[in-house]
Amino acid sequence: MCALEVYQFNCRTDNFGVLIHDPEIGITASIDAPDEGAINQALADKGWTLSHVLLTHHHYDHVEANEALKQKWGAIIVGNEADSERLPGLDIAVQCGNYFDFGLHKCQFIDTPGHTIGHVALHFAGQNLLFTGDTLFALGCGRMFEGSPEQMWTSLSTLAGLPDETVVYCGHEYTLANAAFALTIDPENAGLVERAAHIKALRAEKLATLPTSIGLEKATNPFLRVSDEKIRQLLNMENASDVDVFAEIRRRKDTF
Ligand SMILES: [Zn+2]
Repeated sequence: MCALEVYQFNCRTDNFGVLIHDPEIGITASIDAPDEGAINQALADKGWTLSHVLLTHHHYDHVEANEALKQKWGAIIVGNEADSERLPGLDIAVQCGNYFDFGLHKCQFIDTPGHTIGHVALHFAGQNLLFTGDTLFALGCGRMFEGSPEQMWTSLSTLAGLPDETVVYCGHEYTLANAAFALTIDPENAGLVERAAHIKALRAEKLATLPTSIGLEKATNPFLRVSDEKIRQLLNMENASDVDVFAEIRRRKDTF
């Protein structure tokens, strides 16, 4: 089995579009459907034909092009069964924990409620590839529009439990603002300080800060570091539960 090719591009204001391509079989999936024009342009740039759309969640900036891509390419729309009523044009509903076969590649739908209740992360374990939508960002995590801190913390913990070398693609380019906030929570983390400088340099050149990896996020993302002693000291929460520390960091980010 050959490796999947991944092509990331910018669209809308700060969304990422991502195409994954199996060169052996010649199939291509769009991770979410944020922007019809940008996705069609990306397909043209690569000379690929769209066969699938794999959805992380129902927000309009992730599903808006579903129907258009279906009409133009006959693309098959695949999403979380539990959220099927909110996913436009859904063709194949996958239960959380189950797999969708993208050609010969197995894609597990991991239940990651919090940003929305029906949010899933898409994991290609055989390729060490993870698409986290708006659950985990580089140096951040999504806002909790529908879920509780307990749900979001459980979702992030599940993702943090994947192998360190897992390559992570996210729904948005929020990393520069996330880095500024992360430094207020974890200012003495040398790895974070170094990464924040690197991100600043990348963004000055308008370059993407994604993909990231689970290992890098565990080392520098404050939302995955709630058990760190220095972070707990800074928050005055030495003896609090992990979920309470997480909720406090999320609360501070909401008003940052
Ligand atoms: Zn969203």
